[in-house]
Amino acid sequence: RAKDGGRNQVCISSPAVSEEMLTPLIVETMLRNALRNKDLEIYYQPKIQAKSMQVVGAEALCRWRHSEFGEIPPHRFIPVAESSDLILPIDEYVLRAVCEQGARWLQDGYRVRMSVNVSSRQFGQPGFPELVRSILRDTKMDPSLLELEITERTAMHDVDRAVHTLTELRNLGVRIAIDDFGIGYSSLSYLMRFPVHTLKIDRSFTAGIQSAVNQNPVIGAIISLAKSLNLNVVAEGVETVQQFDFLRDNKCDEIQGYLFGEPVPPTSFQLTAFESTPQPRGFHPGQDTLA
Ligand code: C2E
Ligand code: MG
Ligand code: MG
Ligand code: MG
Repeated sequence: RAKDGGRNQVCISSPAVSEEMLTPLIVETMLRNALRNKDLEIYYQPKIQAKSMQVVGAEALCRWRHSEFGEIPPHRFIPVAESSDLILPIDEYVLRAVCEQGARWLQDGYRVRMSVNVSSRQFGQPGFPELVRSILRDTKMDPSLLELEITERTAMHDVDRAVHTLTELRNLGVRIAIDDFGIGYSSLSYLMRFPVHTLKIDRSFTAGIQSAVNQNPVIGAIISLAKSLNLNVVAEGVETVQQFDFLRDNKCDEIQGYLFGEPVPPTSFQLTAFESTPQPRGFHPGQDTLA
C-alpha cells in the first residue's frame, strides 16, 4: 500500500508499526522535536586508503533514533528536511558535532579526516563559510581534517556562485569533495573551475562492477579524469572483493563501503578503525580529551 504513495509522502516502516504513511508535515514536526531532544545521532563510516589499507577518513552520516519507529535512515528524512528550512539547523548540528568529535580524536592522537555532507540549501546560504569558520574556532578543530561533501548537483546549480563559495571555504583550509559524482552533468570545463580536492564516484557505478575485469568504462574514465586534475578519488558503496580489486587496480585512491565497514557510532568506530592503526604522532595517553 505504501509503495503506491505519492512522491511527497514518506514511508517509514518498523517492526512495531508494520507500514506507516507519514505526510511531510508530520515528519517535519517529528524531526523538529528530534532535533530539540537530540535524537539525531551521528554515525561514522570508514574511508580506506586502497594502497595502504589504512583508515584515513570517516564520513559522518546522521541517524534518527525514534522511540516508536526505531532507527530512521537519512534517505527517509533528509529530503523532507531539505524541502523546509529544517535542514539548516540539522546541518549545523551535525557539522558542530563532527568537529567536536574530530577535535577529540585528534587530541587522543588519531588524525582522521572527517567528512560531512552539506545540503544544497545550507551550501547556498550566504553566511555558510562564516558558519564553518565559527564552528572550527569554537571546537578547535583542525580545518585540514574537515572535508565538506557537496553533491555534483549542488555544485552545478549555480556554478559561479558555487565557485565563489568553494573558494571561501577552501581559504578556511577545509577540504571539499564532490559527492555522487558522475550521475550529474558536470562538463569538464566546469569541473576544472571548482576548487575541490576530491571526487566521490557515485555508488551506482561501483554497483556495476561485477568482476576485476569491468565492462563499464565509466569508472576508469572518472578515475583518469580525477588523476589528470590532480584530485583524490574515492569510490563509495564498495561491497565486494571484486569491486575492491578492480578499483585498487585502476588506481582509485580511497574506498568506502560495507566491505570495510558500515556507518557505526563513534565509540565503535574508534574501536574498530583506530585500534589497529593508532597514529603515534601527538599521542598523549594521559591527557584529557576536549569533552
Ligand atoms: P551519501 O553522502 O552519498 O552517503 C552514502 C550513503 O550510502 C549512506 O547512506 C551510506 O550509509 C550508504 N552506504 C555506504 N556504504 C554502502 C554500501 O556498501 N552499500 C550501500 N548500498 N550503501 C552504502 P545513508 O546513511 O542512508 O545516507 C543517505 C544520504 O543522506 C547521504 O548520501 C547524504 O546525501 C544524506 N545525508 C546523510 N547524513 C546527512 C547529514 O548529516 N546532512 C545532510 N545534509 N545529508 C546527509
Ligand atoms: Mg556523502
Ligand atoms: Mg555519496
Ligand atoms: Mg549518495
